[in-house]
Amino acid sequence: MRYTILTLFPSLIRPWLSESLLEKALEKGLIEVRIKDLREFAKDKHRTVDDAPYGGGPGMVIKPEVAVEAIEWALPADEVILLSPAGEVFTQEMARALARKSHLVLLSGRYEGFDARVERFVSRVVSIGDYVLMGGEAAALVLLEATARLVPGVIGDERSHEEDSFSRGLLDFPQYTRPSVFRGLEVPRVLLSGNHRAIERFRREEALRKTLLLRPELLAKAHLGQEEVAFLAELDRDGYT
Ligand code: SAM
Repeated sequence: MRYTILTLFPSLIRPWLSESLLEKALEKGLIEVRIKDLREFAKDKHRTVDDAPYGGGPGMVIKPEVAVEAIEWALPADEVILLSPAGEVFTQEMARALARKSHLVLLSGRYEGFDARVERFVSRVVSIGDYVLMGGEAAALVLLEATARLVPGVIGDERSHEEDSFSRGLLDFPQYTRPSVFRGLEVPRVLLSGNHRAIERFRREEALRKTLLLRPELLAKAHLGQEEVAFLAELDRDGYT
């Protein structure tokens, strides 16, 4: 998988890629990341990338020619994604779809964002949530992390993302590690039993219970078997607990 990140602040991106799983994925050639400074596409000697908004108002707007020439430099690509709070909200489902592509271009804004005409030159506008960041770099890294960990080989044990929250439309089950008693709080006994079928059942039920309690709206789209539907009906009757 190849990523091109277009940004006014390349130095914000680089450190994120130099540690842990992303560093290893880069070393192994499982992912490739190009970072390009949008300022390189400025036209004047002052390397101006922004201008005041037509119609007045606070802040500055990134000039369309700067963004569009950067996009054209990055092509060909499967997707050109403009990061914006006004975009389609990023989900695990979108991460799965994007992870199947081979080249994603991520366009990060600053200031008041891009001239609106830039949207005509991208394939998607994506938001990472209903809040406003100072710039799109953190959002680009969110997309990169969520998609790169789905690239085969990046996180090692592929079972890990089969069990992740949202992978089957449910939240992940609660995890515990040693010690078995911490400040008087015990690990559920079944996890110490060595009975794999009972553990699997407990985890499935806990994932259902947690989703029903914390994110009930996810259940409408979850892929559930008959036993799971019956368990949920039982929880509902008993008031969840
Ligand atoms: N005035 C803009 C608005 O309200 O839509 C906000 C611009 S924001 C200060 C600057 C840049 O941060 C945006 O161009 C975008 O790239 C990025 N950004 C901010 N919040 C974001 C979010 N929730 N998702 C994705 N990108 C975001």
